[in-house]
Amino acid sequence: MKFVAAALLAVAASWMLAGSAAGQAAGVKVVVNGVDVPLAVPAVVFNGQVMAPIAGLFEPMGAIAAFYETDRSIVVTNRVRTTVVFWLNETAALVNGQPRSLPVAPALLGSQVFVPVQATFALLGAWARFDETDRAVFVNSQITGITPQVSAGALQVAVDATGPMQVETNVISNPDRLVVDFINATLRTQERLYAVSDAGVDRIRTAQFQVKPYVSRMVFDLNQPVEVSITTAPTSYLVTLQVRPKGSAPWQAPEGASKGSPLGRSANPVKVTGVSFQPDGQAGRITVDSTGSMDYKIREFMFPDRLAIDVQNAVFIPVKREISVDGTSVVAVRAAQFTARPPVTRIVVTLKRKLNYIINQSAGRLTIDLSTNTAARGHLVAIDPGHGGEDPGAVGPSGLREADVVLDIALRVRDLLAHDGIRVLMIRDSDTTVDLADRPRVARESGSTIYVSIHANASPRAAVNGTETFFLTPQSLVLAQMIQDELGVVLGIPSRGIKTANFVVLRDNDIPSVLVETAFISHADDELRLRDQAFRQHVAEAVHHGIVRFLAIYPVPQQAP
Ligand SMILES: [Zn+2]
Repeated sequence: MKFVAAALLAVAASWMLAGSAAGQAAGVKVVVNGVDVPLAVPAVVFNGQVMAPIAGLFEPMGAIAAFYETDRSIVVTNRVRTTVVFWLNETAALVNGQPRSLPVAPALLGSQVFVPVQATFALLGAWARFDETDRAVFVNSQITGITPQVSAGALQVAVDATGPMQVETNVISNPDRLVVDFINATLRTQERLYAVSDAGVDRIRTAQFQVKPYVSRMVFDLNQPVEVSITTAPTSYLVTLQVRPKGSAPWQAPEGASKGSPLGRSANPVKVTGVSFQPDGQAGRITVDSTGSMDYKIREFMFPDRLAIDVQNAVFIPVKREISVDGTSVVAVRAAQFTARPPVTRIVVTLKRKLNYIINQSAGRLTIDLSTNTAARGHLVAIDPGHGGEDPGAVGPSGLREADVVLDIALRVRDLLAHDGIRVLMIRDSDTTVDLADRPRVARESGSTIYVSIHANASPRAAVNGTETFFLTPQSLVLAQMIQDELGVVLGIPSRGIKTANFVVLRDNDIPSVLVETAFISHADDELRLRDQAFRQHVAEAVHHGIVRFLAIYPVPQQAP
């Protein structure tokens, strides 16, 4: 850090001046979703902006931040895959690849990276305000969408938010009402009254009920006693309420709804109201607008390269359309009703060549940001299938060997990366014995940018299953999170999240290094999945997407002259 010492002293001095000049030398609190964040060093006020160290700042918002010394970037990512990147001493920022700006540049003070609190949380879609009386910045999740749907006498309300919320319900008599409070949530929806007249509910009223702590309230006016259940989605900030008359049949998705979608949120079909393309250099952004939260799948095809985005349980409203986008690397964007039952809207993006993409959804709008991102091609990715040769790894109840499965998955990841033009180093590409200590050494000495070890998990408890990703060093955290996010979304088995572990392959690597535990080979159903070619391909695609997303924000190291 010594290269910035002089500049830091100057910055520190000006901050203190600014603080004392305004009579604001006393510590300013930062309260995120009701949590008074324990700051490593006190926040300061600079040019009217509260600046706080990033350590621990974003966790109560369900997000994580990492600082990369190589290019002095700060990367914040959350559960719905919003990725915000900004840099020390620069006011420029990128939100999912789109340029934004900060009122004050992030700065290094001592060993702490300081960011302007309100502005950085705003980029994540959160609500943030400085409160003069409390001398605190209050930051909350925002409710961005409320979608009630009625089916067969039951009511489902999907509540979309930009961060985690705590939900409390109460039934009040005379008149009968169901009160649902979203603690630490600010209401951004315009609508205040929803007529229902079904499922024992006359109407729903919404209001910003209280501040400090911030409570958004939904009141269901009832005409008979009801039962209510609440579900929180594991990979988004969606909260689903289901309300029905006491003793009546539970919520059932209407006929034609796609099977197996999370929370049955695909109740009534959403209506896709528009698809557009906005060119940006050789690439651009595709925007899909609809009347509610979209449940989508994205697939890549080759010859020619194209992306297919299937929006499940979605009726396509515009006439079938083709958007010509010549002059870019995108040949055409087509959107149409792909199947009527179940209703699936498909958007096909035909490409002149392979492009990277980041997909993001908020408030009924899906954006797919395409980027040429040739930078990723400067990377060398070390892929390490665990075990091999004399070491079969864990063996499943029906005899499947970990070493064989992870090799097959790793080769699939290699092929997907190679198709992107990203160079890959396989630590082993056949059933051979490789010493544990040699694995990180080979990755390091070959100049690999990142290291991804692929395993299948085992537990003495046969009932344990799911997917998880391990990391150890701080620069590995975002890579672990990005891969785990992808696995959690596509595999259909529990996401056990990211964890730290002092594994040799993670400890002896100074590049971002993660160990992916794809599924539990010791669990009978997971073992069956691991036998399945399609499941292996899904694992490989998830790992591949996580790696590509990471490389898009991770600088290619400088080559030695
Ligand atoms: Zn293993």
